[in-house]
Amino acid sequence: MKFPKFSCPVYKYGDKDYEFYRYQYATSSQPREKMSPAAIIRPQHPNADPDVLTAIRYAAANKLAIAVRTGGHAYSGTSSTTKKNIQLDLSEAYNEWDYNPETGLLQVGISHTLLEFNTRLKEAGLFMPTGQCYDVHVGGHAQTGGYGQLSRAFGLFSDQIVSFEIFLADGTKRVVAADSPDQFDKDLFFAVLGGGPGNYGIVTRITVRPYRDSDHRYSRAYKKFVPYDPKLDHNILVQLLELVMDWEHAPSDYDFCVTVAAGEEDFISNLIGSASRDAFMIKHFKDLNHSSPFNILMVYFQYSNYDNKRDSYDPSWCKRIDAIFSTVNKGGSWWERFKLWIEQKILNRLDRQDNSKITRMSESITKLWTYKGTREFNYPYLKYGQVTDKVASDDWPEWAASRIDAMVGRSHEGLMVFSQCQNFGGKHSSVTKNGKLKQTSYAWRNTTVGLNLDIFYNKNMPGAQTAAHKWHTDNRREAIGRHGKFSTSDHRWFWASHDHINMHQMWRHYYSDKDYERCCKVKKKVDPKGVFTPNSFVVGYTPKSAPKHASLNKAQIDEAEIFGQSEEVLDDSMYTKGHTDRAKLRAKAKGIDVTEFFR
Ligand SMILES: Cc1cc2nc3c(=O)[nH]c(=O)nc-3n(C[C@H](O)[C@H](O)[C@H](O)COP(=O)(O)OP(=O)(O)OC[C@H]3O[C@@H](n4cnc5c(N)ncnc54)[C@H](O)[C@@H]3O)c2cc1C
Repeated sequence: MKFPKFSCPVYKYGDKDYEFYRYQYATSSQPREKMSPAAIIRPQHPNADPDVLTAIRYAAANKLAIAVRTGGHAYSGTSSTTKKNIQLDLSEAYNEWDYNPETGLLQVGISHTLLEFNTRLKEAGLFMPTGQCYDVHVGGHAQTGGYGQLSRAFGLFSDQIVSFEIFLADGTKRVVAADSPDQFDKDLFFAVLGGGPGNYGIVTRITVRPYRDSDHRYSRAYKKFVPYDPKLDHNILVQLLELVMDWEHAPSDYDFCVTVAAGEEDFISNLIGSASRDAFMIKHFKDLNHSSPFNILMVYFQYSNYDNKRDSYDPSWCKRIDAIFSTVNKGGSWWERFKLWIEQKILNRLDRQDNSKITRMSESITKLWTYKGTREFNYPYLKYGQVTDKVASDDWPEWAASRIDAMVGRSHEGLMVFSQCQNFGGKHSSVTKNGKLKQTSYAWRNTTVGLNLDIFYNKNMPGAQTAAHKWHTDNRREAIGRHGKFSTSDHRWFWASHDHINMHQMWRHYYSDKDYERCCKVKKKVDPKGVFTPNSFVVGYTPKSAPKHASLNKAQIDEAEIFGQSEEVLDDSMYTKGHTDRAKLRAKAKGIDVTEFFR
């Protein structure tokens, strides 16, 4: 079948602008071969459906696969594919927004970024639990989680989905509801939400039930940044991680997250704009081994005020955080303390919050929680995201802090670390409680602590890539296993898929046996020809049984996936600027005012 005519823009390999649209979060960290669709098809709102359908029919007739991309934020590049296949880029395809105050239901198109989504909710006095990056899109996020600052209080973003609309591989469109009596719908709902993003069809719209600010009038937030100097503040980090471990005993409307980001100015300039590029700061602080204004420790606390009563707030949890911080940046020489004092002045320009005041829920999410960058650092990375139901060793906080410290202050060697740690569990946690309904396939609902240890490296710096690999490999070896510091089992999140993504070998990291079997059955039923089988992160296939286009059997790609090798050195900063500019324009086109956010 000849390549069909589409009414939307299409970029074929080699076309002008192909490289711009090919770029996504994982492009610089994955082999070019894996991230280069033969054609990128970009259906446009409000007439996206016919082009989506044409792409499905073309792929089915020609034994090709479709990679579905909305925001392009998949860590391991699962929304892209090889030159044998095509990509549907839905970032401008479905912009609908229809809130019905009477039913309390919102139908929303999947092409919203989280910033657009949360800003629109805020304008209506509403909020929802979502993840943190402004440019993650609803399309993928609805299927991989929505783990975030309100997880213990309200559960995952996905838990709030009442129904979704999906194009299946046979070209039919279906609305699938959580409460459908039909077993086929029940299975599809289960598989799509949490069981392998992009595997079952093309999600176009979702219906959710947002929460109202007015039902949580006395909510509070606490956000604090300090410059992080491991030489002086190692114990502060250890104590914060201990507090994360203990957080499962907090009431479930209390959430808490610890972040360390250390490296070049990208991260902090995303947070405060050009101030961090101040020539004086760069000259005097940037390349110091253990301290620079680009090494920060950040904590975020949220009280969601379930019962809507003025005097229910228990400040003791926040006091524990404050008590830990009371000794921050102490000790060392006067010069070290002086530098930290100046760094703190810079960080004070960021949006901070203390818990003495009431902060509207929607305000917390848009202003305090959402991160302004499209990526943490403009470099390739090795990501690591792991969960556990029980931290395996009492000295895990000491171990984790030491592993982080080993990479802090090494930007002059081309190494930048980003780490986040949060407790999602406890017997009253909504993540756990919602999981008991068994409507979605998100695994590891009994998770307590979740930990990310991510390293970005500058390929132009000799030794940086090797050092990053060693750190990453050692982390995995020491954290997981019978004598692992973090967990005896290797449990991962779909939203943070990393390393090997050959599903036929790796599925036990993402599913229980029973749930994987159920998802495989659904895949077989809804996608018998493998239209949604664009790479090796696919449910229900082995290299033998996979359709040819799935590229499951390529050892060299597997190796490159593990070690994050792409053949090219790609300038992330050039592309991220272009994509940030595009994000601003797209919000404007939807009539959403994001100027305050990007000020
Ligand atoms: C910097 C950064 C920060 C993040 N922070 C968080 C966080 O705080 N919490 C959290 O939970 N997650 C977080 N994530 C992960 C993110 O939520 C997931 O990767 C999410 O799936 C991205 O969705 P997307 O549409 O932007 O990306 P994409 O790469 O386009 O999609 C991700 C996956 O979903 C599939 N998919 C996308 N759209 C559709 C569709 N319409 N129909 C069918 N399949 C589709 C793709 O094929 C792919 O497998 C973060 C990611 C990044 C890069």
